[in-house]
Amino acid sequence: MAEGQDPPRQVAVVTGGGQGIGRSIALALAGDGFAIAVAARRAGPLEEVVAEIEARGAPAIAVVCDVTDPESVIALQQSVQHKMGSASVLINNAGIAESHKFVDHPDDLWQRMLEVNLTGTYRVSKVFVPGMIEQRWGRIVNIASTAAKVGARYLAAYTASKHGVLGLTRALAAELGPHNITVNAICPGYVDTPMTQASIENIIARTGRTREEALAFIHSTNPQGRLIHPEEVAQVARMLVGRAAGGISGQSINVDGGAVMF
Ligand code: NDP
Repeated sequence: MAEGQDPPRQVAVVTGGGQGIGRSIALALAGDGFAIAVAARRAGPLEEVVAEIEARGAPAIAVVCDVTDPESVIALQQSVQHKMGSASVLINNAGIAESHKFVDHPDDLWQRMLEVNLTGTYRVSKVFVPGMIEQRWGRIVNIASTAAKVGARYLAAYTASKHGVLGLTRALAAELGPHNITVNAICPGYVDTPMTQASIENIIARTGRTREEALAFIHSTNPQGRLIHPEEVAQVARMLVGRAAGGISGQSINVDGGAVMF
């Protein structure tokens, strides 16, 4: 399909779409006319997002899926194909974050972080790319992190997994360009989501800091002294999957108030 033409079908898959950043992206893309499939392990939050989307008059389905389970990921693709048709947009957003100091870093934490954040992104991309190749149109957006670009204390596994996501983004952009598929990453700083709330609780529990002190630390990582709103990340995703972004691929866009400038 030539540059600038509309995609043949507008079906978007959002992993981790039941809450936080994934939920905001799902709602934003539904507003742009996409049929939405949200996928995660827990059905309850997914169904709430589907109800929100349907209340706005857009089609949506919830698919229970664990990105660490290859069969579950294949079933996700089959379910989307059966109910909505080939996905033209994939938002790899499912992720987990846990911290630990390195000297006695648990091996299972390392494995889990890589399995969800990096291998999950690989696995879900792998099942949806063939349909995009067939349509000669596709957009993949990987939700990485500023931790894909810089290191931080106590976050070895998370940082390694997100650097890997950025490497995968660039490799796929190079390989899938001839098929008219773009692959980009978004790198947020701390976003106001349940994941960041858990990080704040963790700081309080491990350091004895007050909630205000923990929040002040999180804010201090952003030159604007605040949390990023999930909607701000969603707006960048909207832009990247839009028709006008056909020439943007292999890029990583920071949404962090200017903390990281490369
Ligand atoms: P949340 O913890 O709020 O949401 C994570 C989502 O991922 C949930 O819907 C969760 O649903 C899903 N998920 C987790 N594990 C799996 C799995 N194995 N299979 C399928 N789905 C899974 O996180 P955020 O919205 O904050 O983060 C979304 C993404 O953005 C993540 O990749 C995160 O690393 C990244 N990010 C977040 C930042 C932040 O400050 N919050 C900053 C930078 C990047 P369920 O539990 O039901 O499976």
